[in-house]
Amino acid sequence: MRRKLAAGNWKMHGTGADLAEVAALIAALPAQGAGPEVLICPPATLIHRMAQAAGGRIAIGGQDCHAEPAGAHTGDISAAMLAEAGASHVILGHSERRADHGESDAQIAAKARAAVAAGLVPVICLGETAAERDAGETLAVIDRQARGAIPDGLPAGRLVVAYEPVWAIGSGRTPTPDQIAEVHAHLRAHLAGRLGPGAQAVRLLYGGSVKPGNAAAIFALREVDGALVGGASLKAAEFGAIIAAL
Ligand code: 13P
Repeated sequence: MRRKLAAGNWKMHGTGADLAEVAALIAALPAQGAGPEVLICPPATLIHRMAQAAGGRIAIGGQDCHAEPAGAHTGDISAAMLAEAGASHVILGHSERRADHGESDAQIAAKARAAVAAGLVPVICLGETAAERDAGETLAVIDRQARGAIPDGLPAGRLVVAYEPVWAIGSGRTPTPDQIAEVHAHLRAHLAGRLGPGAQAVRLLYGGSVKPGNAAAIFALREVDGALVGGASLKAAEFGAIIAAL
C-alpha cells in the first residue's frame, strides 16, 4: 500500500517570517503517523530552519540539486549539502528548471542518481506543454521524459514521480479527471515495464493548479498517490485543506 504524499513546492517564495505558516500547518495536522506524508520544499535558504522547526512532523526537501558531489559550480548545491541542511527529498526536473535553466532529461537523471546516493528521495517532474497536448503528443512526451529523466536502478519505494502538465501550472486550469487518469496509468505501465512488480511502490503525484476545491476529485483517481502543490502550499489554511482531502 503506497502512503499518500502531499508535497508543497514553495518555488522562489518564502522568508523567515513564513515559518509561521509551517508552524500553523503542523499544529493542525492529524497525529503523527496518521494521514498522508507531508513534504514542503522551500527555497534552499530556509531548509535548515524549516527542518529544525518541523521537528520531524513533516519532511523538508530541496527544489533542485547538482549532479556532482562538489566542485567549481558557482551558485549550485549538492544533494549531500541539502541532506546535511535537513532535507530528505528533492524536486528534480521541474518544468520551470527545464525552461529557465535548460535542464535536459539526461541532466535530470544524473541529478536523480546523485540524490539517491546522498540518501534523498527524488521527486522527478515531467509533463507536456499545451502545444504538445494539442498535437496529440502527450503520452509520447511522457514516455520520452520518463525514459530519459528516471534512471534505471533507483529504489522504487524511494522514488516519486510528479505529472505536471506545463499548461496547468499556475494557470488555474487542470486536465479533466480522465486526462489525469490516462497519464498516470500510462506512467505506471511505463515503470512496470522497466522495474517489474516493484513499480507498484513508486508514488505518482499530480501537480498543476491543485486547490482545496479540486483536490478531492483529483485524489479519488486510482493511480494518483498525492499532489505536488505550488501556490496553494504557501498558506497553512489552503495546504491544510488539501492535505485533509487526501
Ligand atoms: P501551482 O500549484 O501553483 O499551479 O504549481 C504547481 C507546481 O508547479 C508545483 O511544482
